[in-house]
Amino acid sequence: MSRTDDILHRAASALEALPESSARLEAELLLAEATGWTRTSLLAWPERVLDPAGAERFAALLARRLAGEPIAYIRGRQGFWTLELQVTPDTLIPRPETELLVEIALDRLDARRPLRVADLGTGSGAIAAAVASERPGWSLIATDRSAPALAVARDNFRLLGLERIGCLRMDWLKALASDSLDAILSNPPYVAGQDPHLDRGDPRFEPRSALTPGGDGLDAIRAIAADAGRCLRPGGLLAVEHGFDQGAPVRHILANAGLLAIETHRDLAGLDRVTLGYR
Ligand code: GLN
Repeated sequence: MSRTDDILHRAASALEALPESSARLEAELLLAEATGWTRTSLLAWPERVLDPAGAERFAALLARRLAGEPIAYIRGRQGFWTLELQVTPDTLIPRPETELLVEIALDRLDARRPLRVADLGTGSGAIAAAVASERPGWSLIATDRSAPALAVARDNFRLLGLERIGCLRMDWLKALASDSLDAILSNPPYVAGQDPHLDRGDPRFEPRSALTPGGDGLDAIRAIAADAGRCLRPGGLLAVEHGFDQGAPVRHILANAGLLAIETHRDLAGLDRVTLGYR
C-alpha cells in the first residue's frame, strides 16, 4: 500500500511525458477523482495510504490520461467562468479563451434591459450558461446541430438551475425569427480542415465537427454572419470566436454581411480571438 505523497510523486513524473500537461495538478485531480478525497486533503494528509480498490481506480484513470485522453473527459467536468460544467466526448471542452466572448457580451449589452440572446453551437452550453448566470433577466437560446451535445447542454442547464435557457436543435440561425435577437454569440468550429493542431493533444478526442468546418475554417462564421443581419434587431450585436490568424478575414466577412463598428479583441495570450459587429 502506498502513501498519498508517493503516489502523487510517481504519477506526476509519469504525466510529465505528456505535452501540455500540468503534471502535478493532473495527478492530484485524478487521485481526488479516484478516492473522493478533496485536493486540499490530499496535500494536508500526505501519509494517508490508499486502499487497494482506490489504487486500482486511480491506476485506471491514470492509464487513460497517459493514453492522451483529456482530463476533462476523464473527470466528466470542466470549469468555465464561475461554473462547473459536465462534458462528454460529444462536446468540445470549454476553453479559457471563450470566457473573453462572455466578458465582451456582458460588457457591451445593457444589463438593465431584458435582452434576448442566442448562443449558436452551444456544445456543453458554456457560453449560454455563463451569460444566463450573470443576467437573470435575460432570455437565452442555445442551439446546436448535434442532438447528443444538446442533451449535455440541457443537463448542464438543469444542474445549474438555468432551465430557462431554451434549447433548439438546428443549424446556426436557421429556424430563428427575423429581428428577434439582441445578440448572437458563438464559438463555432473554426480550425482549418488540414490544421495539424487537430491531430495533437485534446482535439484528437473532441468532436471533429465542433473543431473544424473543413476548408479554410471560416465556413461556419460565413454562415452565421450571412444570417445574422436577418435575425438581429437593429443595433444588435454579433460576437464570434475565431483563430489567432483569422482576425482580418473575419472582419471582412462581417463587413460583407453589412455589420457595423467591427472590431477584434485579443485573448489573454495577446492573440486575436473574438470579433464583433453590430447590425
Ligand atoms: N480553440 C479551439 C482549439 O484550438 C478550437 C475551438 C473551435 O474551433 N471553436 O482547439
